[in-house]
Amino acid sequence: MSKTDFGFIRKYALIVAFAVLVLTTLSFIWFSLNKERLVFDSLQTAAKVLLASDNISDYRDFAKGFRDVRVTVFDGRGDVLADNQAEHSAMGNHADRPEFLEAQTYGYGDDVRRSETTGKRTVYVMVKLKSGSYVRLAQSAGLSYEFVVWMFAPIAFLCFCIGELILVFIKNKQMERMRQEFVANVSHELKTPLTSIKGFAELTATGLVTDVEAVKGYQEKIVSQSDRLLATINDILLLSKLESAKTKERVAVDTRSVADQVREALKHLADEKDIIIQVSGEGSVMAEPGPIYHLIYNLTDNGIKYGKGGGFVKITVDGKKITVTDNGIGIPEKDVERVFERFYRVDKSRSAERGGTGLGLAIVKHTVQKYKGTVTIKSAVGAGTEVLVEFDK
Ligand code: ADP
Repeated sequence: MSKTDFGFIRKYALIVAFAVLVLTTLSFIWFSLNKERLVFDSLQTAAKVLLASDNISDYRDFAKGFRDVRVTVFDGRGDVLADNQAEHSAMGNHADRPEFLEAQTYGYGDDVRRSETTGKRTVYVMVKLKSGSYVRLAQSAGLSYEFVVWMFAPIAFLCFCIGELILVFIKNKQMERMRQEFVANVSHELKTPLTSIKGFAELTATGLVTDVEAVKGYQEKIVSQSDRLLATINDILLLSKLESAKTKERVAVDTRSVADQVREALKHLADEKDIIIQVSGEGSVMAEPGPIYHLIYNLTDNGIKYGKGGGFVKITVDGKKITVTDNGIGIPEKDVERVFERFYRVDKSRSAERGGTGLGLAIVKHTVQKYKGTVTIKSAVGAGTEVLVEFDK
């Protein structure tokens, strides 16, 4: 039950990946549109400067002077005189290009299309000089592969951070809800025996009941309800200690010896139901002795509480594994996942009648989590239950 929740991790990873994809695509579109406009603006400015100065004496030198911008110089028929990025003699006639046709009529022409030479979406701006020659400035408006990679890293980081924030928010909300539920459950669990104690105490205090046997019966009920109250309070304190206290120094705990101590402590209860507690194996775990004792105690206690008269409870230790098996009433399949929840009982009245607090397995779960272990239950109604705890897997 203390397995990692892979379903949730997968869902979380999918949401973050989806957000990264959407944001990368949107940024790509936004940057693409913006780049085209920026390239247009800068080429138009360069063309204006060119027209204003209009004193080119050597076309080749002029074309070579540009770096990021492709510059091509044409004669009045559209033949290439010079180009700073290609061998001009190999370039064909450009008289049919839209920017050339426009520049022939208006002295200025532009176009945006995929370049036949580079294959990239390119902005072309062309002006007609006084000499009758034409200068065309061209620059790619497409985003490079490197740009997308450069953009991906901060977007992924941003999505991850936002995802983490949302996760913390959800976890806080869940914890808040769990705390409220716990407080409500605790109040209910304490109120029930206290109400009984008050009722029986009032009955005897009035002096109306004179029958000695009846008074004795009420007093016994007061004692058993007080025991229940005390057991619940002790378990709540144990649980809160497990949750909040820092782990003290760990020592090698001899689980066989702890199991033997538990058998001694619970022998009288087992004898009452004619149940045999068997202990076998050798084992040790690096932990604090107290929580390991409570873990084995709670599992064995459950084996007896929910065991059948004349049956058995076997505690087997093997290295870092502890298994507690009984041949008792078993747990219905639908309840197996839930029995670790605080105050969850399969049969509430049966648990109360047997002195259960509903916190035994919650304490087991917290102990196992504290020492980074796992706990699994196999159970069949009418056949029995096996609880396997594995530490340091
Ligand atoms: P409780 O104090 O009621 O025993 P636990 O947290 O120890 O509380 O167990 C939760 C519930 O799980 C119990 O009320 C019982 O219904 C069921 N359960 C636990 N252990 C066993 C077992 N060995 N056999 C049958 N049912 C069990």
